[in-house]
Amino acid sequence: MTPIDGRAMARALSQRTAAEVADLIARGTPPGLAVVLVGENPASEVYVARKMAESARVGITSFEHRLPVETSEAVLLALIDMLNADPRVHGILVQLPLPEQIDAGRVLDAIAPGKDVDGFHPVNVGRLSTGTGGLVPCTPLGCMMLLDSVIDDYRGLAAVVIGKSNIVGKPVAMLLLERECTVTVTHIATRGLPEIVCTADIVVAAAGAPRLVRGDWVKPGAVVIDVGITRQTDTDGRTKLVGDAAFDEMAHARAVTPVPGGVGPMTIACLLANTVRAAGR
Ligand code: NAD
Repeated sequence: MTPIDGRAMARALSQRTAAEVADLIARGTPPGLAVVLVGENPASEVYVARKMAESARVGITSFEHRLPVETSEAVLLALIDMLNADPRVHGILVQLPLPEQIDAGRVLDAIAPGKDVDGFHPVNVGRLSTGTGGLVPCTPLGCMMLLDSVIDDYRGLAAVVIGKSNIVGKPVAMLLLERECTVTVTHIATRGLPEIVCTADIVVAAAGAPRLVRGDWVKPGAVVIDVGITRQTDTDGRTKLVGDAAFDEMAHARAVTPVPGGVGPMTIACLLANTVRAAGR
């Protein structure tokens, strides 16, 4: 089994993005990313700080907007309107989750589709499902790049996606369908999950269920993309990240993404690539 090195692939993608940023700057369009954070969720703080730092590393200008936890939906929508109209801003990212008084769906719908670098706007979702371009959500885009590093011809391969969320499961399924895989989407209510996974040439696990996918679920030669991230504290008090696949049981697979160091690093690299794409259009 070959582990797929997501860190190395993310570095290579960010290098290409940095070159494209330099080109856009030379042509008078410095790419800009607005990052909006409402409240003080510690995990969100970490994600936002990482996104800003990575943006800076590739030369993207980032605009940070921090709003207090009691911010009303109207105030946030007014900020989105302002960012939609700001020619320096090519990508808008609203860090989720939002406080309960704000309807996240309404906020995401308010982002101009051309600046929706997370790919969550209904127009981009529709474009993805009709195969007509648009901005693709970052984690699914990263999953496909990782798969592309080991698979040349997808036509007719059996792909099983575990999880049907709007941010990972469904868009990954659409991307695999676009490549003419035969796609099965499974979820918490699926019956006989191990038998279904056993049929797969490609497994994308995005359930958030640690070590759900066991070695004997995976057929020899299959490729496993492990999106799941669960934080667990071991007996000596150290926190570690655990994926949805039992990595140590996958010797017979063709290739597997480790956790950490697989899908995670690709997600931010794809966010930066999407920002450059939005700026270039
Ligand atoms: P979600 O909770 O929105 O969706 C989880 C999906 O998995 C649901 O459709 C649910 O039905 C299904 N599911 C849950 N338990 C299951 C089980 N035991 N068997 C079969 N299906 C099951 O989660 P999400 O936002 O899609 O994220 C999924 C996982 O991926 C999480 O661990 C999350 O932290 C991780 N994630 C990682 C990245 C990254 O950059 N690496 C990005 C996004 C999400």
